[in-house]
Amino acid sequence: MAKAEAPQTRWAWVEIDLAALRRNTRAFKSLLARGVRLMAVVKADAYGHGAIPCAQAMLSAGADQLAVSTVDEGVELRAGGITAPILVLSEPPVESVDVLVEYDLMPSVSTGDFALAFGEAAASADKIGRYHLAIDTGMTRTGVSWSEVCDLRSFFDFHRGLECAGTFTHFATADVVSDWDFTLQLKRFDEAVGALREAAFDPGLVHCDNTPGTILHPECHYDMVRVGIGLYGLHPAHTTVPRIDLEPAMSVRAKVTRVVWPEVGDGVSYGMDYRVPRRNIQIATIPIGYADGLSRTLSGNTSVLVRGMRCRQVGNICMDQCMFAVDVNSARAYRPVSGIEVGDVVTIMGSDGADTITADEIAAQRGTINYEVVCDFGLRLEKIYV
Ligand SMILES: *Cc1c(COP(=O)(O)O)cnc(C)c1O
Repeated sequence: MAKAEAPQTRWAWVEIDLAALRRNTRAFKSLLARGVRLMAVVKADAYGHGAIPCAQAMLSAGADQLAVSTVDEGVELRAGGITAPILVLSEPPVESVDVLVEYDLMPSVSTGDFALAFGEAAASADKIGRYHLAIDTGMTRTGVSWSEVCDLRSFFDFHRGLECAGTFTHFATADVVSDWDFTLQLKRFDEAVGALREAAFDPGLVHCDNTPGTILHPECHYDMVRVGIGLYGLHPAHTTVPRIDLEPAMSVRAKVTRVVWPEVGDGVSYGMDYRVPRRNIQIATIPIGYADGLSRTLSGNTSVLVRGMRCRQVGNICMDQCMFAVDVNSARAYRPVSGIEVGDVVTIMGSDGADTITADEIAAQRGTINYEVVCDFGLRLEKIYV
């Protein structure tokens, strides 16, 4: 059931359970050997959960460092008073080097020109530019190719404004057990780090595991792990479910703004794709729509929870509102046969009584992954922290 009150200005909101975030953080810390650092990935506004409160909660529960995707996300954390080390997970535009230096953000480096520009910016501010070397070991997304790491370091390592604080790669298939591609990526990473050490380049903190890697591949926790989705209480794949208990931190709620008892045959929403099939069906409106992350592709294919009942969403989901049907005939005896009322709290994602709608359930209905479901709900709805 809702732990938070609705915002005064809109009857739809996202509820974030900070205690669950802290418990998830501690659960990951407990997987790590002493001395292994936990980098909390709070990119994309902490996967839609709100970057600053989430970063504070994770740091308070034992996270050591933070990771973001963009320079602006890093600046936002600094403006929010966060002083922990922050890594930008891919090489940002070269034009951003002064901002990186000013806000003490560590870029990922994968090209020599960027590294030199960053070193110049740091040196002219009388600072040391700390960076992490990003290595592509097979995902074909970002980073310097695993076979070229020593050449790249040689190109800029002389620069007095630069310091390598870390060396990392990212796995494409860490969620698959006994996967050949994973094994090959790890082998290439080990070879690249070995070559750096052999050539007397200090790699800094060596890290490669994301959430599934951290859970399934403890053999490569190395100096640090980068955990995102798991901290929010969601599993990256079914393979990790038996290995760690996590608590989803995000719920999505709304309050009923209107209830009607339509005639049989009345249409609902744009296109009138749904028509009321029987008597004793209520149609209720809630002020949440596809611009709030309730994707239009879910129209007629998702459910909501209200008063302990699971009700079908009906009609096309609008930009800011949608409707659902309460089949009062099918209500069991203990349920209120009078139906529901304006102001009733509706759960779009999360628990109400004994029933739960998970991000995974919505992801399956949408044909996507739980990561996208929570990112989308975070885009516009007000977040309330409980
Ligand atoms: C997003 C991301 C992570 C975190 O991934 P999860 O699966 O959410 O744990 C780690 N490293 C990099 C480079 C990423 O882009």
